[in-house]
Amino acid sequence: MTSPLAQEAQSLLARLFPICRSITGEGVRQSLAILSGTAPWQVKEYASGTKVFDWTVPNEWTVRDAWIADESGNRIVDFQQSNLHLVSYSAPVKAKLSFAELDAHLHSLPNLPDAIPYRTSYYKENWGFCLTQKQRDGLDRSASYDVVVDTELKPGSLSLADAVLPGTSGQEFLISTYCCHPSMANDNLSGPVVATLLLKALATRPKLRHSWRFVVLPETIGAITYLAQHQAEMQASAGGFVVTTCGGPGPLGIKRSFLGDHLLDRAVDIAFRDAHIKPVIYPFVPDGSDERQYSSPGFRIPVTTISKDKYYEYLYYHTSLDDLDFVKGEALEKSYDLYLAAIDVIEENRTLRSLTPHCEVQLGRRGLYPQSGGALNQKAGTAGATAIENEVDVISWVMFLADGQHDLISMAERSGCRFQDIVTVAAKLESHGLLEEIPD
Ligand code: ZN
Repeated sequence: MTSPLAQEAQSLLARLFPICRSITGEGVRQSLAILSGTAPWQVKEYASGTKVFDWTVPNEWTVRDAWIADESGNRIVDFQQSNLHLVSYSAPVKAKLSFAELDAHLHSLPNLPDAIPYRTSYYKENWGFCLTQKQRDGLDRSASYDVVVDTELKPGSLSLADAVLPGTSGQEFLISTYCCHPSMANDNLSGPVVATLLLKALATRPKLRHSWRFVVLPETIGAITYLAQHQAEMQASAGGFVVTTCGGPGPLGIKRSFLGDHLLDRAVDIAFRDAHIKPVIYPFVPDGSDERQYSSPGFRIPVTTISKDKYYEYLYYHTSLDDLDFVKGEALEKSYDLYLAAIDVIEENRTLRSLTPHCEVQLGRRGLYPQSGGALNQKAGTAGATAIENEVDVISWVMFLADGQHDLISMAERSGCRFQDIVTVAAKLESHGLLEEIPD
């Protein structure tokens, strides 16, 4: 049985998939409108020509149609069949070309002959078509071709969306994803779908410990624009996630933050450990997605990524085969669960100090210990072990480590106990007056 969350993810995927997105234009706006119907995103527009650090918000791209026709007028490569056929940001053209002239503008993948590759030309004015190697091999080299790219590049705006959920700690965390690729599912619809469902989940919570800033934007230029326009808030960010390529059938993975052992890295590790999932670990490298911007020297926001079939790692990356057969709601749910578990670790992490630090406390007197002594940790007694015996182990670890130097994450790491058990036991000990919280 598919869960309601997997169904919701699947239905968002299906609605978003056909839209022709790019770094600007109607496709991004339509996509943001669909996401805003599920969670409280706020759409923002930034005018073409706006200076953003070393970059400029580009002209807006509009595509109406594009095709290559043979001498009989048959459209042999047609944007209406797949929006991947047109190189993104192609400038307008209307011409009759020889095969050789046309061939200089074609892109295909000899090693994946049934796939249409995804290509862009954002910052160099050009045009081109992408097609399968099989289509390309079938072109008549002695023929001429009619080429029409009915597009427009003119001043408009760049669209993105954000949402800030306020917390009480004074610390803010970031969840960022991008929304600029045309019809491909893992890269990149998996990101905006999972981020939107996370936003929906956190937005309905009555109380949050930390503030959570969500952003969905065109990759690179959108993140640069957002950082330039929200410089002070973003410089104060405590860390974040870039949600990307998290819906494939392949392995779950973690891309480390540039620090490698930041609170976020540890929270993600605990989430995987407690779910009994062994991830593929990708060390930090200064490429990939928008961590390149967030973690740059002017911001230095530690960012990690949980992926499922990470970008670069799967065969169908940036091709038409990254489709709705490759990505399913159930796979997105697995990544969603891990993101949410890591968010919960960050939300519930705190540091506690023992109020009775001199030797062990007498648990029995407080009703925290099983009545018959001696049975604890006795090998022969394990089969009949009661829940409280396990709990005593957790209590022992929490009381032992409650020196004000260990937060709940370190307690979970050090003890091997499940993080949620540590949280439950810590709250219980606090309610018995044995622990007090040290404010952040
Ligand atoms: Zn990509």
